[in-house]
Amino acid sequence: MDSIRENLKHVVSQLPAGVRLVAVSKYHPAESIMEAYAEGQRLFGESHVQELQGKHASLPSDIQWHFIGHLQTNKVKYIVPYISMIEAVDSIRLLREINRQAERCGRVVDVLLELHIAEEETKYGLTLDACRQLLAEGEWRTMEHVRICGLMMMASFVDDEQQIRQEMMLAAHFFDEVKAAYFADKPSFCERSWGMSHDFPIACQCHSTMVRVGTTIFGERVY
Ligand SMILES: *Cc1c(COP(=O)(O)O)cnc(C)c1O
Repeated sequence: MDSIRENLKHVVSQLPAGVRLVAVSKYHPAESIMEAYAEGQRLFGESHVQELQGKHASLPSDIQWHFIGHLQTNKVKYIVPYISMIEAVDSIRLLREINRQAERCGRVVDVLLELHIAEEETKYGLTLDACRQLLAEGEWRTMEHVRICGLMMMASFVDDEQQIRQEMMLAAHFFDEVKAAYFADKPSFCERSWGMSHDFPIACQCHSTMVRVGTTIFGERVY
């Protein structure tokens, strides 16, 4: 098996300029993270609050943590003090709670809105219409402690490249729509987070700015 450092280098070598790597380290131990860290990686993705709490406490403080999983409102308070980005905001309720907790610790927290485009029933996220509605209602404009930096999505877990490409391009076009309607004057609204181990090369052709890759770097997760 290749080493984590080799795997990481190989993934990074495939990313065009302007695409950042979120190394998804969920279920992998601190030693694995430190191998990637030694290779220069500073941006890591986690999706469980308790696991992230432990890793954040024990690993170098210059690591940027992205929360990429489904976040329950009652757990927001634990990660808001240090989280670099919350990628999967899928309700106004969650956005409100992030804003409330961020205000309490004097931060502005960067977030992405998660879109539900894939066919799978189980995936979280806002439908395009729900996302349009959330933005049109405008409550987010009053939230001074969250900054909406873009969109995140997962394509369907299928072999059909065409389908993956279609879903990612739908997200990319939706990004352009939303950018023009609400964020034309906000350079910070610039992130498109799509692409995982099996489809990140496609994502790079579909306007992604951030790929979230776990298995290809760290190996299979042991749950
Ligand atoms: C686990 C996870 C990933 C990484 O998946 P791999 O297939 O291991 O690359 C990416 N995004 C989200 C939201 C995840 O939960």
